[in-house]
Amino acid sequence: MKIYWIYRCDDNHTWEFFRDENYQVKPEDSLCPYGHKAVTVEKRFPIDQVEIAFRPAGYLADPVTGRYVFEKKYKFVITNFRETKFLISEKRYSWEDIKVLAEKFKNKSASEAWELWYKLNP
Ligand SMILES: [Zn+2]
Repeated sequence: MKIYWIYRCDDNHTWEFFRDENYQVKPEDSLCPYGHKAVTVEKRFPIDQVEIAFRPAGYLADPVTGRYVFEKKYKFVITNFRETKFLISEKRYSWEDIKVLAEKFKNKSASEAWELWYKLNP
């Protein structure tokens, strides 16, 4: 499961990574952008909401002519915060329509999002 790793140096700079809970820490991870060494690191579990992505649906249909299809279409993708499960829409959407669809998934927990997904069948 991925979690937030939040670092802080003595100059109160903070920086974070979104990495596996059991990630093997590297020395460079503990340096702030100004070169100070971290004095604290906290592991924080992310909120249970889905991550939303718009995947470009276009692809090269004819390499000879360079013709693409679905150039301005997107597939809708949701991922749970543990990044163990994701769903990709069967349908392709225009930018305007996929924004409307995404709005329905705003702030949804993973279980709420899966339920909505199977109801909408995007
Ligand atoms: Zn610093």
